[in-house]
Amino acid sequence: MMDFRQIIAQADGALMPTYAHFNAVMVSGKGATLTGADGRTYVDFTSGIGVNSLGYGDPDWVRAVSEQAAALQHISNLYYAPSTAAFAEKVTRRTGFERVFLCNSGAEANECAVKTARKYAYDRHGPGRATVITLLNSFHGRSMVTLTATGQEALHPECFAPYNPGFRYVPAGDMAALEEAADDTVCAVMLEPIQGEGGVMPLGAAYLRQVRELCDARGLLLIFDEVQTGVGRTGKLYAWEHSGVRPDLLTSAKGIGNGLPMGLCLAREEVGVGMTAGFHGSTFGGNPVACAGACVVLDKVNDSLLADVARKGDYLRGRLSGMKHVRAVRGMGMMLGVELDGPDARAVAAKCVEKGLLILTAKALLRLLPPLIITDEEMDRGLTLLENVLEEE
Ligand code: PLP
Repeated sequence: MMDFRQIIAQADGALMPTYAHFNAVMVSGKGATLTGADGRTYVDFTSGIGVNSLGYGDPDWVRAVSEQAAALQHISNLYYAPSTAAFAEKVTRRTGFERVFLCNSGAEANECAVKTARKYAYDRHGPGRATVITLLNSFHGRSMVTLTATGQEALHPECFAPYNPGFRYVPAGDMAALEEAADDTVCAVMLEPIQGEGGVMPLGAAYLRQVRELCDARGLLLIFDEVQTGVGRTGKLYAWEHSGVRPDLLTSAKGIGNGLPMGLCLAREEVGVGMTAGFHGSTFGGNPVACAGACVVLDKVNDSLLADVARKGDYLRGRLSGMKHVRAVRGMGMMLGVELDGPDARAVAAKCVEKGLLILTAKALLRLLPPLIITDEEMDRGLTLLENVLEEE
């Protein structure tokens, strides 16, 4: 294999320079430990940004995916495939939503939710109710619609204009602003129960309940973007379960595919059935290999793993809270944001990579999204590496 510096030069010479890569090349992994092209090992507190829920090399997931790839890798939605059917049934049964649309990413899942909400309103009221309210500081994706839905000015540079019409933003937690914005041009409110990229900001059960009540009173659909909070990340299969506030549409991606591209938009029956043939589609959506793997993910993210996520989240939070420069830790389960009292989070993350720990940032925070199956020993190893870096700051 090429030297890791050659691999970096090869990538930098050809990829669009869209990412600020860290100076590391990963070649394999087991559990929550990665091996780099430099031969070093790294503890993973990132899961590939909340994706590798079962970590690296889960034998059941690898077997399911390999067997499906050998049998039939793709067939399109013109025909049925057993693993696609099995996953659709499993995920609807497990979540209590009756309908699901399968796609390949979080942005696509949110696109589907916006289209579904608009069509639902159109079918009931005719044109004029296309507006979707989202929250300031939200993140919903990078396609033009989901970027527009994202309530962050910094992510709306002039070079991409024109942005899409039909979105309106209100501050999180501000019911008066939401009530004012929710006029008769609106079809839905879309939010993340815990804002992820916005800096790990939980919205709180009381606010979510009030939003639900307002949506019910005004005939609006409630969409939860659980692309980051979903699939066990917060200690429940989906984060809405903490508050008991069930949305009408729920989007999921990242952790459900465990590394294969996958997204889904769940809907209650009345909302989902409106999306009849011809109104939406995806060439790769419901891919049999991704679905075979996702069935294993759903089986393994069971009550005992969910309880363990809550336990490990508490442990991480406890140790993080005692570290030098840590002002506050927020989040739920194993979705944690660490507010620092001075050091630059990105610089800390870069130093952690040098020491053998992968860790994320969100705004000015350090962010942890470890594989759900991380062991206590791996957590301790990673936490000690982080502690050492913070001690040196
Ligand atoms: N929604 C949320 C809450 C996210 O965190 C992300 C990605 O970080 C997305 C949507 C977009 O997902 P994707 O990058 O798979 O399109």
